[in-house]
Amino acid sequence: MTTIIAVCLILFSCIAIIAHDFFWRFQQRLDLIPMLPRLQGAIVLTFDDGPDSHLKAWGDQWEDIAQARELIKAIDPGWDFQASITQNLARTLQEFGVSAIFFVQGQVLAKDESTHPVLDDLAKRGHTIGNHFFSHTRYREQAAKVTEKEIRATDNLIKKITDRQTRLYRPPYGQWTILRSIRLRLNRRLSHYFLPLNWTHCSFDWDKPIATLNRSNLEQQVSDMLDDIEKRPGPAIILQHDIWAYSALFTRLLLQRLQQKSKLTVINPSVILQSNSEVGQGFWWLGLIRSYLQQRYRCILSRATRQLASPLQDY
Ligand SMILES: [Zn+2]
Repeated sequence: MTTIIAVCLILFSCIAIIAHDFFWRFQQRLDLIPMLPRLQGAIVLTFDDGPDSHLKAWGDQWEDIAQARELIKAIDPGWDFQASITQNLARTLQEFGVSAIFFVQGQVLAKDESTHPVLDDLAKRGHTIGNHFFSHTRYREQAAKVTEKEIRATDNLIKKITDRQTRLYRPPYGQWTILRSIRLRLNRRLSHYFLPLNWTHCSFDWDKPIATLNRSNLEQQVSDMLDDIEKRPGPAIILQHDIWAYSALFTRLLLQRLQQKSKLTVINPSVILQSNSEVGQGFWWLGLIRSYLQQRYRCILSRATRQLASPLQDY
């Protein structure tokens, strides 16, 4: 009898998840964030779309960065104008003794071999490398099979360049579905991946090209984000892109401010791998259900208290 009830409950949960995914399009925020321990004041830094390349299709161009020399030098006197944004960012992270997650695009690594030593250097410095798929296409515009092929291609490049296996991924624009997570786990060649890791905060850096920046705005934006992180429960996962100079400058100012704020600390991303190890050990489906239920619970709670978390933007 107990077994029948248990089986029915599991079946019901699975049907509810799939139905919800299909009919309510609850595709965002289904990620590792709700599964992280409630580390109040813990900050995880993440950077997408890199490594920064001479051949990049978007982000600040190197000529524009050179023209903003004065502003950049005022915030980061050690900026090397011969080096990429990723390299300058890595120098800042090292200076403050913190590590981050870099979700890299396969197409950048495939097109520009000069990014290979940069990626390898990030891994050697202790940063975590994550998979941001190959062509940065929205999942809706691609068959699941094609997306998985992209993930595999990027996975192979990361492994070839860094000699390390990544277990983290972030879908482009943070858009994903439960069904795609399940497919990935069942794919023999991709089953080493956890659930996607999205974010709780972002600096909207793609909207702030270097030519439009000024120091006081930047400082204000850093303060606003830190105030918000302090107010919210749980850890903060900050999304930025290491193709915009803004991100490197914002990070530097943020780390400077954090030295004065004892309540907040940048944590090593390996805590994510440790705290979610069960996802990679045969109980990934439990993690999926838990993540889903926790997220639903949060949504209901925030609606009730009218304190809606800022919705994920479409980027
Ligand atoms: Zn991206």
